Amino acid sequence: MSRTSIVIVGTGWAGYTISQKLDDKKFDITVISPEETSPYTPLLASAACGLFDFSLAEEPIRHKSKNISYYKARVQSVDFDSKTCKCRAACDVDGGSTREFDVSYDRLILAPGYATARSRACLKLINRSCVTNTFRTPGADEHAFFVRNVADAKRVQHRLMQLLELASIPGLTDQEQRDLLHIVIVGGGPTVVEIAAEMSDLFNDDFSKLYPDLNGKMSVTIHDAAQFILGAFEESLRQHAISSFSKRHVQVVTGSKIKEVTTNSITTEAEGRLGCGMVIWTAGNKQCALVDGLDVAKTDKLPRIMTDDYLHALSPDKTSMRDVFAIGDAADIKKQFLPTTAEVAVQKAEYLAKMLNADDTSTPFEYKQKALVAYIGGHDGVVHGRPDWSGERAWAAWRSKNLLWTRSYRRKFMIVLYWFLDWAGGKEIARI
Ligand SMILES: Cc1cc2nc3c(=O)[nH]c(=O)nc-3n(C[C@H](O)[C@H](O)[C@H](O)COP(=O)(O)OP(=O)(O)OC[C@H]3O[C@@H](n4cnc5c(N)ncnc54)[C@H](O)[C@@H]3O)c2cc1C
Repeated sequence: MSRTSIVIVGTGWAGYTISQKLDDKKFDITVISPEETSPYTPLLASAACGLFDFSLAEEPIRHKSKNISYYKARVQSVDFDSKTCKCRAACDVDGGSTREFDVSYDRLILAPGYATARSRACLKLINRSCVTNTFRTPGADEHAFFVRNVADAKRVQHRLMQLLELASIPGLTDQEQRDLLHIVIVGGGPTVVEIAAEMSDLFNDDFSKLYPDLNGKMSVTIHDAAQFILGAFEESLRQHAISSFSKRHVQVVTGSKIKEVTTNSITTEAEGRLGCGMVIWTAGNKQCALVDGLDVAKTDKLPRIMTDDYLHALSPDKTSMRDVFAIGDAADIKKQFLPTTAEVAVQKAEYLAKMLNADDTSTPFEYKQKALVAYIGGHDGVVHGRPDWSGERAWAAWRSKNLLWTRSYRRKFMIVLYWFLDWAGGKEIARI
């Protein structure tokens, strides 16, 4: 008897998790995604700032121990009647990205994400169809940096190192040096805060010794259009983060409307032109092209695939599609408004794998909110949960959560080893 074929679209938190949790003895599992690795997004800021090797911030989809077929390709469209995915290869060698092929399925799991951030140049390079919503801010798509996967994190680190070297060249004025070493981060969520925290650690602790002539000239500014950062956290924790940042050369500008981004400046409505060496854009995301073109019901707020409580995608007339499921940032349960986080993506993927493995459709999905943790630099953190806390204990909680995110023992071991090496001999990019 032939086995049920399951096709998974995407290798982010949702797609990767379910690919590993499904029973490969029971199902023929095929994964289709332009990315052959899954990024550990909560670890990207640390990797960009040299806490550990980039390879530790992602996990390959191919494992010797798991029987999965993987195609490095992008699903262009899905024909739900004939149960076929129309795909285009995403291999950027020898015309690979022009090859088209079909993959049929018995069951389809859609997990193409929602929040894929890319610059236009990069989109062209790797044949992506998802873009960040830079709210049509002139210059943002072309000149801003994004932190979505390891390739992005590498670009950020490379730019940072180049800025430091450029600022060290003789003949620059004090202001020119300060502008080059001014990093602007746009957004207000935990991701922004963590990038700012890691950068401020680098500037205050590591680079101040490595580049003594530039000491005191490096700065980070967070710009957010909202009235406060860390919106999901308690007011007292938000205040703690802002006062902790101000001691570490991180300025927080809220209610800031950015009018233009260039390679070396941003222009805001309130302050005009501000010189900077790099703009990292994390705010706002657009749905990906695949979701846009699918003939399914979509949610109102962010257009995401609407599902029922068992994670079946809903057809335009809101009836459940028995063999199509949608999870991760790309989907939301009717009337639930769950956040676009790895936490939700992983919980849905684990639930769905359990349900499919057991052929049990009796229990609806229920999201369990866990404590929110953010690092704010200088061994300080904030935890929003029961109870709220901040300080070194919160930093330790954030560190251990980082470790919990990684899914292989090899990576856990290597990350702990790196932490020890960083402590004993300095980070790889700023060794003692
Ligand atoms: C820097 C950063 C830090 C974060 N930190 C946290 C955190 O601490 N805690 C937390 O809970 N969340 C965090 N998040 C959010 C979290 O990463 C996302 O919610 C999560 O990645 C969503 O997972 P996903 O699988 O739905 O989508 P994604 O991770 O976006 O993956 C989508 C996948 O689908 C693929 N794809 C897209 N289109 C197609 C197509 N047409 N065909 C085939 N494949 C396609 C993509 O290549 C990708 O592999 C962070 C995000 C970022 C960027």
